[in-house]
Amino acid sequence: MFDSNNSNDIQSSNLNSANNFEKENKVSCNKNDNLSSNLLNNSDDKHLSKDNNSNNVGNSNDNMRNFDCSENSLNNTNEKNLYCDFCIIGAGPAGLTASIYAARAAKNVVVFSGSTPFGQLMNTYDVENYPGFATPIQGPQLMKDMAEQAKCVGVQIIAKQVDKIDILKKKSQKTESSDEEYKFCILYGKSKCYSKICIVTTGATPKWLGLKSEERLKGRGVSSCATCDGAFFKNLTVVVVGGGNTAVEEAIYLSNIAKKVILVHRRNTLRAEAILQKKLFALNNVEFYWNFTLSDIFDDGSFVNEVEIENVQNMKKQRIAADGVFIAIGHAPQTSLVKEILTLDEYGYVKGGQVKTHIDGLYVAGDVVDSVYRQAVTAAAQGCMAAIDALKFLSINEI
Ligand code: NDP
Repeated sequence: MFDSNNSNDIQSSNLNSANNFEKENKVSCNKNDNLSSNLLNNSDDKHLSKDNNSNNVGNSNDNMRNFDCSENSLNNTNEKNLYCDFCIIGAGPAGLTASIYAARAAKNVVVFSGSTPFGQLMNTYDVENYPGFATPIQGPQLMKDMAEQAKCVGVQIIAKQVDKIDILKKKSQKTESSDEEYKFCILYGKSKCYSKICIVTTGATPKWLGLKSEERLKGRGVSSCATCDGAFFKNLTVVVVGGGNTAVEEAIYLSNIAKKVILVHRRNTLRAEAILQKKLFALNNVEFYWNFTLSDIFDDGSFVNEVEIENVQNMKKQRIAADGVFIAIGHAPQTSLVKEILTLDEYGYVKGGQVKTHIDGLYVAGDVVDSVYRQAVTAAAQGCMAAIDALKFLSINEI
């Protein structure tokens, strides 16, 4: 299940995961060269950069063959403006799928992947439920392949955090550089990206319990990512908190590394899929504390050495020796970019569950809008739907 020879398996931190991924991610697009160049040549007359230089959305064959989304290589925009048909914010399965559909429709596509790109699958190991892989693919590998595929059809991936989405007023849509009409101005650092379509696919981030000790000991034994940090706990004892798929996957993963895994769950049944539960219960180095919450975490002055758990039925507390704590209690949608322009529900998801929003040209897909399914495959499907809807919108409105 866990292949220690795979360099993507263990990363020391989320950020390192992304950086290592980027370093290894210089790809050749041999298989698709013809297809890509045909598509991209078709769209050449639509290059929209003001000064026709490197700001052109990457549709040259050279660009396609040298995929490197590190800050330096992609931040060559020198504070000049980018102009594109599609600006996709977020590079998980939703964003990359949307980008592939849009690029294959001969649109100029920019994806902002943020500073820790490629979404939650970067923190997942065996993915057994994404169709097409008889042998489970590793999460980081799946993302690498998706990003490669996007690059091969001409998508430009920029490893930058977007700060703001400005919706342009009708009159100011045209720029001095072209007759094209832009509906959005995406601000990132001191740079701007003008776009006709904006698809927000910023995903979700792990939830935390909110304990002071949890915050204090993050990086010193407290983590939310077993694939990132599990390797530090070889032959040690770790606690996993939660009862969903994430918690069970983390526990199974850690059982291959740690001497003992202690699963602390606030109820007496897991909500994880049956197949994962079966795997977990078959392990002989996993202990369960049912009906317990984690109430505190202690350290020896530098690193975690003990946790306190509380029984939810009789409120009795007890302490357990542990070297590490993995919090796996779900994820919160990252919707801060759209909170001023779209309506969010009480949990922070974009309300309505639809990829189309009430703002012309603005779409959402994946974990920002889907509070029900939250799977890689459903995020990819929504990315596809958003791109197709957006293409129709451009076509109908002759934009
Ligand atoms: P879930 O929301 O499914 O589970 C969260 C778990 O944490 C629940 O067991 C919940 O308890 C517990 N929990 C929540 N808040 C607290 C708290 N404050 N204190 C203690 N426990 C708490 O989140 P997951 O991240 O596990 O999964 C999210 C989605 O992603 C799901 O749809 C899942 O199927 C999917 N997923 C899929 C994977 C795959 O396909 N390979 C891998 C990982 C996730 P309770 O049960 O009591 O509510």
